[in-house]
Amino acid sequence: MKSLFQKDFFGGGRIDETPHLSKAFDMPSPSERDLKFIELAFEQARMALASGNLPIGAVIVHNDQVISRGHNLVDSECSDLNHAEILAIRKIERYLFKHKGACEIFTTVEPCLMCMGAIYNFKFSRIVFGCKDLNAGFSTRRADLPPSFVRRNAEVIGPVWPKESVALIRDYCERTGRRTHLLDAWT
Ligand SMILES: [Zn+2]
Repeated sequence: MKSLFQKDFFGGGRIDETPHLSKAFDMPSPSERDLKFIELAFEQARMALASGNLPIGAVIVHNDQVISRGHNLVDSECSDLNHAEILAIRKIERYLFKHKGACEIFTTVEPCLMCMGAIYNFKFSRIVFGCKDLNAGFSTRRADLPPSFVRRNAEVIGPVWPKESVALIRDYCERTGRRTHLLDAWT
């Protein structure tokens, strides 16, 4: 697999190749720092794929250090709670409780409603995601948030790497013969 830092992934067409996603989402460009941590989230996503799960991965960062990692284990452990973000959060929940407002989460797919609830409750300062989830993503639906959640707003950066995220999910569909709502929106 290619490194995210190879030049062909950094060309001007990286996000333009999926114009329906980029136009729907006018956001700041990712920094090299953000892409470095997203690459670690992709490592987690590939672990999810290897264990037969939808390839989604997440890492949590505090003071430029990765403090937790998680990958989707919904299918292999038969639990719809086992999203990558939730598993990464639960591994260090006491640490996060003591460091509210100071941690960032990097995830390969835009967080869903459930994960955004946890992210808001732990007051993450930033969310960086690889591709938008047009059917279940909730990171930018601020107008629908209850007031207490609006006050916990985090900076949201994405989609920073839709091509790689979608390629992994296509790989999952080909291996398992399953469909996913994530691809339905893009095909
Ligand atoms: Zn989720």
